[in-house]
Amino acid sequence: MQRRVVVTGASSGIGAASVRRFAELGWETVAVARRAERLEALAAETGAHTIVCDVTDEGQVAQMAAEVAETGGATGLVNNAGGALGTDSVERSSNDDWRRMFEVNVLGLRSVTAAMLPVLREGARTSGWASILNLTSTAGLDAYPGGGGYNAAKFAAHAVTSVLRLELGGEPIRVMELAPGLVHTEEFTLKRLRGDAEATNRVYADVIPLAAEDVARVLVGAFEQPPHVNQDLIVLRPVAQSSVFHTHRGELAPKAQ
Ligand code: NDP
Repeated sequence: MQRRVVVTGASSGIGAASVRRFAELGWETVAVARRAERLEALAAETGAHTIVCDVTDEGQVAQMAAEVAETGGATGLVNNAGGALGTDSVERSSNDDWRRMFEVNVLGLRSVTAAMLPVLREGARTSGWASILNLTSTAGLDAYPGGGGYNAAKFAAHAVTSVLRLELGGEPIRVMELAPGLVHTEEFTLKRLRGDAEATNRVYADVIPLAAEDVARVLVGAFEQPPHVNQDLIVLRPVAQSSVFHTHRGELAPKAQ
């Protein structure tokens, strides 16, 4: 089988950039998200096979996995669909927001992984190996005030990734995790801040964040490693961000000696 990878959340940001990068390096790609017109534009550019699917709907996820199997199978899966809602404190946030974050970042990841595992095993049988990579976040490694539901969801996704690696022990399927810090994508913070463009601009003001293409390069690089090499946790931050609490704004300059 050709190298063929399924990327969820491919209609924007890191997911779309990853499909572009995989395609550049000769991978066949399957781009999955809810917005059909965005997927079509990506397909016209990259040749991706597209599947419209809400990862929080188990029926749609089962159909997606069946379509992947019927159209050429898969040797790779990137669980990238996800996002944040709000920056409210634990005290002031709403269970509705938490539920939505948990559904997409954790339950969606689980459903897609469970549905895709038989397809990936088939890929591993014919090609020798398969790979799974989960997009978590530095918010899944360090808590911060206002992180609440997003921290909880990404910590959970981080834990599930480790569980999966243990459970797949003995199979030729590597399980990887990529945890980025600040990435300037078109929609992530805008959605998190409920469409407040000014507040969104402030997040990226006077700082050099990662671009989606930076994350995609590293992400696809992990798939391009020899198949017995498992980069099990990749933490990727902009140089200007030394922790979730330390973001340098302004020019980066060597200290005077
Ligand atoms: P975007 O908001 O640009 O992209 C999110 C993608 O997920 C979209 O393509 C969206 O497509 C898709 N998606 C959302 N909900 C669903 C759903 N229910 N079913 C299917 N697809 C869905 O965000 P980024 O590219 O910035 O983020 C990608 C991943 O990286 C996320 O998991 C995010 O949490 C994580 N991350 C982002 C960081 C950042 O600073 N930007 C930092 C660290 C991690 P559609 O609406 O068409 O379904």
